[in-house]
Amino acid sequence: MKIYRALESRSRSSGYFIGEHLWNLPGISCSRCKEVWATTGVAYPAIQLSEFIDLKNAQKESVVDVDEFIKLEAMVLDRFPHLEIITPGTSFGNLVGTLRGRNFTDFVPSTPWTLLMQEDTLNALSNSGTLDRLEYGRVQLKDDSLVPGTLFEAQLMPRGHLILSSNGLTEDSACSLCGRRSITLPPRMKVTANSIPDELNLFRLANFTTIVVATQKFVDAYIQLKLTGLEFDEIEIVEDQS
Ligand SMILES: [Zn+2]
Repeated sequence: MKIYRALESRSRSSGYFIGEHLWNLPGISCSRCKEVWATTGVAYPAIQLSEFIDLKNAQKESVVDVDEFIKLEAMVLDRFPHLEIITPGTSFGNLVGTLRGRNFTDFVPSTPWTLLMQEDTLNALSNSGTLDRLEYGRVQLKDDSLVPGTLFEAQLMPRGHLILSSNGLTEDSACSLCGRRSITLPPRMKVTANSIPDELNLFRLANFTTIVVATQKFVDAYIQLKLTGLEFDEIEIVEDQS
């Protein structure tokens, strides 16, 4: 098996999407490490928070202390126990925004950690069996006249463990109170084999959540369907972290 980092295509210009998710968990202000932080990349667009949680107070401040965040995290995990990772700054619900430009590719550029696709693309990939078990959110466009159908955001579950030790950092360097790690992307990406999900062909790395990963099966379908908007760089798979 091979896996690849999925990146926005650099070889073809395209119109793009700009917008925000409906809900975002607040960031953390930590009394131990003194950092104020939030994670980029963790998003669950298929999950609507409005039914059960009032984030108004938390979002008003946009930063809370660790205890307050743990309470929020527990409320979300209690309702959605299949979400293994909830970080400060986690986004939920539909993307709401606008399209800019023209000549849209099948995968529409947004942020590098977001995967947006046109409706025909979603249907074609679904029919190929490539998107089994993948959930997605419908993008709310303020101006939907620019693309022929609806846009969808893939809900990329945080899976797959990137080895960081080769970058001079250890896995134990997290703050003991808030869990914050200061990490940078290693020059050569390696993911442990046993952390790769069997059931998903698209996911994001659990410990580097801005990296979107596609399996060989996804890349094969992408090529066969002659889709546009993405590029793929192979990621090395290793058996363990030694
Ligand atoms: Zn801390």
